[in-house]
Formats: sequence, structure tokens, C-alpha cells
Amino acid sequence: MDAPELSVILPLYEEGEALDPLLARLDAVLASLGLSHEILCIDDGSGDATPERLEALARHRRDLRVIRLSRNFGHQAALACGLDHARGRAVVMLDGDGQHPPELIPELVQRWRAGARVVNTRRRDAPGTPWFKRAASRAFYALFRRLTRLPLEAGMADFRLLDRQVVDTLRALPERTLFLRGLVAWVGFPQVVVEFQAEPRLGGRPKYGARCMGTLALAGLTAFTEVPLRLATALGFLFSALAFAYLGYALLGWLLGHNVPGWTSLVGSVLFLGGVQLLCLGILGEYLGKIFLETKARPRYVVERRLGFGDGDD
Ligand code: UDP
Ligand code: MG
Repeated sequence: MDAPELSVILPLYEEGEALDPLLARLDAVLASLGLSHEILCIDDGSGDATPERLEALARHRRDLRVIRLSRNFGHQAALACGLDHARGRAVVMLDGDGQHPPELIPELVQRWRAGARVVNTRRRDAPGTPWFKRAASRAFYALFRRLTRLPLEAGMADFRLLDRQVVDTLRALPERTLFLRGLVAWVGFPQVVVEFQAEPRLGGRPKYGARCMGTLALAGLTAFTEVPLRLATALGFLFSALAFAYLGYALLGWLLGHNVPGWTSLVGSVLFLGGVQLLCLGILGEYLGKIFLETKARPRYVVERRLGFGDGDD
């Protein structure tokens, strides 16, 4: 099989309900584009009807390639798997739940043809997006930008087009902890942003709860900046200075024969310093954990089976 011009990556975790309607829309869009294409469905260890449905589809569709991961590895790992297997000169990734409208793809392709190597998208929130999700996301990206100086904006979605050159660059990065949004911003190349209106899911449930968002945020920050480590040093300096100042004050009191002050201040400062030390230990632990994960160098995902690759591996 010759390499297609366009690869479309769909990460799928229990999207049995959304799959068919989404594929129908995608087919219409791809037909109108008239580019040779492949659709790469990454089944991220779904426990619903997704695997059977994909198998049935792969049997009679030549443009569909299916990769099933051996368990649920998470959205970012599924995307990495898609990037590893995509062959197109341009690669588009979009969520498999219909929240990223495939109708935007022609615009992404057009911007790519006009010279952009990365076409990012930014979503205008769908009505009904929980307010905490929006507020948390805005706060996180503001912090991320300040700490890393990378141009990441709130609402950036894992819906984007990447040129082959960028895909190869990303694939050559050795890190295990994937925060694709950050890495894409980091690699550079001419990038543009296109806005879209997020849509409600076509079915099923969202799998990113507040906890997942928190984990991703922490992973993203610690993968891209060592400023929090410096925060520990800064706090250390601050409190040493305060301690010296207080010591001076206490000595003065002693020389002047004042009574020893009560314990409130003592207990207060012990508790406070204990808290600060734990915080600093926590920050160190985050980075140590990251080093631990990276040195183990485990693969980002494990493939269980592949369909539609035409190399006898099915
Ligand atoms: N997804 C995945 N693995 C996971 C969780 C999600 O491949 O462990 C896929 C999911 O099927 C969807 C996309 O990642 O295509 C985004 O997930 P979701 O819609 O739950 O996230 P949200 O839109 O709420 O950010
Ligand atoms: Mg979604």
C-alpha cells in the first residue's frame, strides 16, 4: 500500500455509541477533500462494543486500520500510538466522541497547504461544559505559559493537523511522559490556530474527570519546567531569613530581660515550617518520580492486535 496523503487518528475508549455517526461524518468530509487517506482507529482497551464494531468495519473497509492496545493506556498514549503508525504526509488527530467536528478538517488542510506545519485548534466551549473545568483549564494554562514561556492557550484541544516533518520530530523525542500539547508547542515550526465550536458527545460518557485533568496538568507542568524546584529553594531562603530575623528579635528580648514569649508563636512556626518542608519534599518527589519513570523506559503502550495493515499481522 502506498503512503496516503492524509492520516486521521481516532483515539477510542469505549466509544461504541459515537463511532458510527462519527465515521459517517468523517467519510463525507474526506470524500469532499479528495485526498488519499487512511483512518487509524486506536482502541485504547475498550470494554464495550468498540472492538467488535471496529473489527467488522476493518473487514470491509480498505481505508480503515485498527490497532487494539492490550489495556487502557490513556488518551495521550493512544495518540502516541496513532502517530507511530500514521503514514500520511499530514496527520490529523481528533477525539472519537464527536466533540471535535470533522467538518473542520478541510480548513486544517487548507492552512497546512498555505504553509503551516502545525494547525492547532482552540475550542469555544460547548454549552454545558462544567464551570470548574473551564476555570481550572484557564488557570492551568496561564500558569503553564508563565513558567515555561511556551505559547499554550486555554482551550487548546488535542484536535490538530501535523505535518510529516513535525510527526517525525515528535516521534524522535525520547520522553515517556507525554503531554502532547506541550510537546507540539515546544517543537516550533510555523504554527497556526483555528477556532471551533465544541460539540456535545455523540454518546457514552466523558472519561476525563477532575482527577485525570489534575494528573495531566501536573504531568504537563513537571515535564516542561523546573521552576517549581526553584520555588523550594526560594522558600528555603525566605524562611531562613525570617528565622534569622526572629532570632535577632529573641536575643534582643533576652538581653533586655523580657519574658520568654509564649508558645503560640513557637508551635505556629513549627507547624508552618513543617508544612513548607513537606511541600518542598512533594515537589522533589514529583520530579524524582518523573526520573524514575523515564529511566525505566517502558513503552508508552502495548499493541495487542492490528487489523487492516495488510502485512499478515492481523
Ligand atoms: N480516550 C482514550 N483513552 C482514555 C480516555 C479517553 O483513548 O483512557 C479517548 C476518548 O475515546 C476520546 C478522547 O480520548 O476519543 C477524549 O476523551 P473524552 O471525550 O473522555 O475527554 P474530554 O472530551 O472530556 O476531554
Ligand atoms: Mg470528549
